[in-house]
Amino acid sequence: MTKTVLITGGSRGIGRATARLLGALGWSVGVNYANNRAAAEATAAEVERAGGHALPIAGDVASETDVIALFDTLQQAYGRIDALVNNAGIVAPSSQLADMDLARLKRMFDVNVLGAYLCAREAARRMSTARGGAGGVIVNVSSAAARLGSPNEYVDYAGSKGAVDTLTLGLAKELGPQGVRVNAVRPGLIDTEIHASGGKPERAAQLGAATPLGRPGSADEVAQSIVWLLSDAASYVTGALLDVAGGR
Ligand code: NAP
Repeated sequence: MTKTVLITGGSRGIGRATARLLGALGWSVGVNYANNRAAAEATAAEVERAGGHALPIAGDVASETDVIALFDTLQQAYGRIDALVNNAGIVAPSSQLADMDLARLKRMFDVNVLGAYLCAREAARRMSTARGGAGGVIVNVSSAAARLGSPNEYVDYAGSKGAVDTLTLGLAKELGPQGVRVNAVRPGLIDTEIHASGGKPERAAQLGAATPLGRPGSADEVAQSIVWLLSDAASYVTGALLDVAGGR
């Protein structure tokens, strides 16, 4: 049976690579995006070319109204939701905490923490067997920053990902008896546009060279681990934090 997944931030980077791989496995993919409709449409076209189905869906994960609408739209389109890839996330320009203003801190935690919690909540409401659902899988996209702390760059971002790790640990225990597995991947330095949005387009290449594997990772390498965690091959894996960070 065809499975349906919502990928938040599915239009670019790690989300897009995950969408493409799931398309090749025949999945129906909700490609959520914040602003870049053209990128979401391009991703949807890649999913369809790979053999799946795709629906671009606009929505800010920091908005409860948008998050509920995202899930409703996907469920109406495909009749079911089997999985969530809780992937949308932002960084901000490198800075010390002492120089961060309130607006930056609020937005960081609104998108990366509140957004992840709201999406996980909606998935739990719809997938939990205790609430009439058929079970499912959640993969949260955290970061190696959660254990590194990211001093002088973005301790706000690192802390937001620490919350995502803790969400993963708690929700896996809460939802295990209700047919839902919950895991996280913690990417390291991955070659996507997120670094440019933080003002350092070359960051992954420069810092990646100093990692044990000597290079940045690709979005596809992270997507492969997400797809594995979504699959039945990972049927006994829940509450895991999987580092995909080249040994960093
Ligand atoms: P990216 O290339 O910058 O893509 C970000 C995606 O998130 C885009 O699809 C963007 O939509 C979407 N997005 C941003 N804010 C959103 C919001 N408020 N609501 C809904 N969607 C939103 O990022 P990436 O590198 O693939 O990162 C994906 C995840 O991996 C993030 O959680 C990030 O923290 C994590 N991560 C990345 C790295 C890395 O080195 N790249 C390392 C560790 C962890 P638009 O296209 O509309 O802007």
